[in-house]
Amino acid sequence: IMSLFGEVPQATPVAVFKLSNDFKEDANPKKVNLGVGAYRTDEGQPWVLPVVKKVEKIIVADNSLNHEYLAILGLPEFRSSASKIALGEDSPAIQENRVGAVQCLGGTGALKMGAEFLRRWYNGNDNTKTPVYVSAPTWENHNAVFANAGFEDVRPYKYWDAEKRGLDLDGFLGDLESAPKHSIFVLHACAHNPTGTDPTHVEWMQVAEVMKRRKLFVFFDSAYQGFASGCLDKDAWAVRYFVTQGFEMFCAQSFSKNFGLYNERVGNLTIVARDSDNLKRVLSQMEKIVRVTWSNPPSQGARLVAITLNTPELFAEWKDNVKTMADRVLLMRASLQAKLQALETPGTWDHITQQIGMFSFTGLNPKQVEYMIKERSIYLMASGRINMCGLTTKNIDYVAESIHETVVNV
Ligand code: PLP
Repeated sequence: IMSLFGEVPQATPVAVFKLSNDFKEDANPKKVNLGVGAYRTDEGQPWVLPVVKKVEKIIVADNSLNHEYLAILGLPEFRSSASKIALGEDSPAIQENRVGAVQCLGGTGALKMGAEFLRRWYNGNDNTKTPVYVSAPTWENHNAVFANAGFEDVRPYKYWDAEKRGLDLDGFLGDLESAPKHSIFVLHACAHNPTGTDPTHVEWMQVAEVMKRRKLFVFFDSAYQGFASGCLDKDAWAVRYFVTQGFEMFCAQSFSKNFGLYNERVGNLTIVARDSDNLKRVLSQMEKIVRVTWSNPPSQGARLVAITLNTPELFAEWKDNVKTMADRVLLMRASLQAKLQALETPGTWDHITQQIGMFSFTGLNPKQVEYMIKERSIYLMASGRINMCGLTTKNIDYVAESIHETVVNV
């Protein structure tokens, strides 16, 4: 019998999830998963942050809470405290009542809401033809999220210089200079995924200068605040600098990594508007978009984050938990770099310690990646990106020797 679904083509699997499945099915006891973008302890296990465990108990015990619908835009105390950690406690924009936010389903939801709004309303026009620029390379979902929101022209901007394994600043600035006026630029707030390479403060200032002069829209994606330096304020430097430069802008925040709340889908879209009247109208349209998308957001993750950020002792404890994660990554970076150096692995490996955040862009080519997977059961993305959190004191020797053997032989 014919099926109504007979013509549906098989879609390609999402690379990072396919990699995890292949890893699960691998029988090699030495196997290592460096693909997935999630924190692991030195025992290779997921980590429920101690502060989260504590706040979960507070929520269970609080008889004043219930499961009624939240406001369409989300939990007010979550939205304001989330925006505050992005923009800073004493942000003049917050004091001027021109900052608002939408609670979203993870960082992805925040990007989606931002994209849907911009396509409909940005600059008073239909924006299907407005170019959206994403870094080359970037988190692969950026392209699809903006395309799926109706932007027909999603383009890469130059970012990574493979030769020098660092930022291609001239290329980046050149693409900003030549972009059509009002183009939208998605900027990684810190700990760039996948390259682990961020502009310096001076370089960000150059980027801001061109973006302001050429009237380009700033859309920050902040998925790793705290992971780059271990310090929330340092990691928000770029976002805060752009606010001081007077931009009207968006910042999509994800609490998946820095709170370890991957499956609770906690995100926030911070909006910095010209004034409170503009903000009010923007939020009214955001409400319409949320209504037809998920109608109403979930509460558990937002409560966890809001209680943590709004209680001084818990806030301090969370910062400490974040630092624990960031420090373990730093330790693994230093250790991997030292081991490759000691093995005299061909090439330079300083980029492993120079890069920041959860990921390292190793420079291994697709053939070498395939060899690592097939011959060594070490799973990493085809781009050569590895999740530093997948390394532990137990598997790091095996990984370093495997990289050495691969670079020598392939
Ligand atoms: N943006 C970047 C750069 C990311 O790496 C990720 C997660 O991998 C996200 C956004 C989305 O995060 P979430 O899982 O909160 O949707």
